[in-house]
Amino acid sequence: SVEFFFTLEIPSDGHSRKRTASASGRHLGLFLIVASVTLGVGSLVWVEDPDVAWIDGEVVAVNGEDIKVVVKSSNVYPKDAEAPPCGVDDMTKLPYLHEPGVLHNLKSRYDINEIYTYTGNILIAVNPFQRLPHLYDSHMMAQYKGAAFGELSPHPFAVADAAYRLMMNEGISQAILVSGESGAGKTESTKLLMQYLAYMGGRSASEGRSVQQQVLESNPVLEAFGNAKTVRNNNSSRFGKFVEIQFDDRGRISGAAIRTYLLERSRVCQVSDPERNYHCFYMLCAAPPEDTHKYKLGNPRTFHYLNQSNCIELDGVDDAKEYAATRKAMDTVGISSEEQDAIFRVIAAILHLGNIEFAKAKEIDSSMPRDEKSWFHLRTAAELFMCDAKALEDSLCKRVIVTRDETITKELDPEAAVGSRDALAKIVYSRLFDWLVDKINSSIGQDPNSKCLIGVLDIYGFESFKTNRCLTEAGGIIALLDEACMFPRSTHETFAQKLYQTFKNHKRFSKPKLARSDFTICHYAGDVTYQTELFLDKNKDYVIAEHQALLSASKCSFVSGLFPVSNEESSKQSKFSSIGSRFKGVMEAIRISCAGVDEVTVCKKLLEKVGLEGYQIGKTKVFLRAGQMAELDARRTEV
Ligand code: ATP
Ligand code: MG
Repeated sequence: SVEFFFTLEIPSDGHSRKRTASASGRHLGLFLIVASVTLGVGSLVWVEDPDVAWIDGEVVAVNGEDIKVVVKSSNVYPKDAEAPPCGVDDMTKLPYLHEPGVLHNLKSRYDINEIYTYTGNILIAVNPFQRLPHLYDSHMMAQYKGAAFGELSPHPFAVADAAYRLMMNEGISQAILVSGESGAGKTESTKLLMQYLAYMGGRSASEGRSVQQQVLESNPVLEAFGNAKTVRNNNSSRFGKFVEIQFDDRGRISGAAIRTYLLERSRVCQVSDPERNYHCFYMLCAAPPEDTHKYKLGNPRTFHYLNQSNCIELDGVDDAKEYAATRKAMDTVGISSEEQDAIFRVIAAILHLGNIEFAKAKEIDSSMPRDEKSWFHLRTAAELFMCDAKALEDSLCKRVIVTRDETITKELDPEAAVGSRDALAKIVYSRLFDWLVDKINSSIGQDPNSKCLIGVLDIYGFESFKTNRCLTEAGGIIALLDEACMFPRSTHETFAQKLYQTFKNHKRFSKPKLARSDFTICHYAGDVTYQTELFLDKNKDYVIAEHQALLSASKCSFVSGLFPVSNEESSKQSKFSSIGSRFKGVMEAIRISCAGVDEVTVCKKLLEKVGLEGYQIGKTKVFLRAGQMAELDARRTEV
């Protein structure tokens, strides 16, 4: 993105202000930061504080570089003495656009229940953590319909309306990017955007389900199987999602496509306190007795994949009700009751699978189900998968190695058998999730004639924890990770050494002092230290041949359909495919869509079009004259 940098005239109070703004080539999304200030006695300031972020201050003496304020700090920003107590609805109206000013403005508005604020054409939402139904009802949608952007209070409906109108008036497809930390409210905002677009582009369903209803009801289905309680968010999306809503010439929804990215599959068998596994597991355990009986389920605390964490129930959530609601949503998106039965049968099978424990068998380094309880769960899992119990046991405890001359059966020790069991659970779950997405897409249907669409991207929330495993975005790291995964002797230590060597001079990479296999990346949102222990395992994404053979032979067509037998040619290809490289796909797509066009050319054209005079275009910055910033902002919607 091009950085705008301009110096404004020295205002009458004697304070010179410099501002930087960055804007992408397409919109003039203005983000202003006060870069340097001159302060005098009596200036009101914000002083940085480690506990409460920013404290009000007043300069009482200035002595060269030394500024004496009520609270002393190195980071001092001028405070707007005339800031309205309720804040401003567009932060480009603020005389000082710096972090404390922005936070103070957001807080002032939040205090009066105004959770939305613009910064130019960017909408900032502050999570209210309480239902505000009046804010999103049909009366509200009617108000925003056709209203000029900025005329009414900031709202996601206004953003959706602007996108819809631009699409209709100019015939250009639009995209809305929703971004923020985990728990910030991205998914809720995405749903509001979709709700408004469904309202604008909805048509009355003469018979059966309407497209817009199906689009909206895809949310609860995907959330049941792809969301989970985390430390940050009781309903955290564990996958990325891009929803493309297609419209016909008259602006009515004619189809939709949902693309999901990289479901977190490790959660299926590994949950740490106080988090939960995917919602669907708890819902199924809370299902009506005829269902739980059918699937031989009971108290969720009796299942290893759920009881690794103490958190089973969620405040304010009734899993039994959620089960019924999910079933209803599945009906709406076109999943038949036979398919629903098969889906929940597979979910139950996964839970039983997780309860199979292994003990050493007679032969050295071999394993078998540990006790009668484990045998029971093995038999039940096989029953539910509709596969052979002996074949299931073998696929968990043995590996067949085919050499040029012979076929050798290798026994797995109990630890390796647990690994095999978990790998099976993860692959089945992720195939099931992909099946759901495909099914929703085919049942909503695509409109091949649609020329215009609106895309909404609900990207992963940024998280930084004490332990960070695989949030690896940097291209170089992913390439090295793939390389490490392909060498059988690699360990996380050898991988870490390779990283230290390769990136030792990289400005965003560092090695924590005492760490042996950790590394730190300076992301745009802050430093994150990663532990490499599980990087290799998490990156491997392949089906173990024995698991493939087991489930493709299932008597249940749904289960065998999740594991289609590949033709000979493709099975000869390397079994290894990396999750990291698929994520890099995602990142590249975003980069390309952000880059768009040559930014300098766009800036020149844009400034010519608005007829500004006397500005200077530098290599990476545009120097504006006094007042031109406000002029640009006022004409933003015309460009
Ligand atoms: P993640 O990256 O973890 O998926 P997210 O940004 O998608 O997080 P959400 O799931 O959208 O976060 O929001 C978290 C919770 O915050 C919601 O479950 C809801 O309780 C509350 N919330 C968010 N936005 C709103 C809103 N506009 N009104 C009421 N509650 C909200
Ligand atoms: Mg989310």
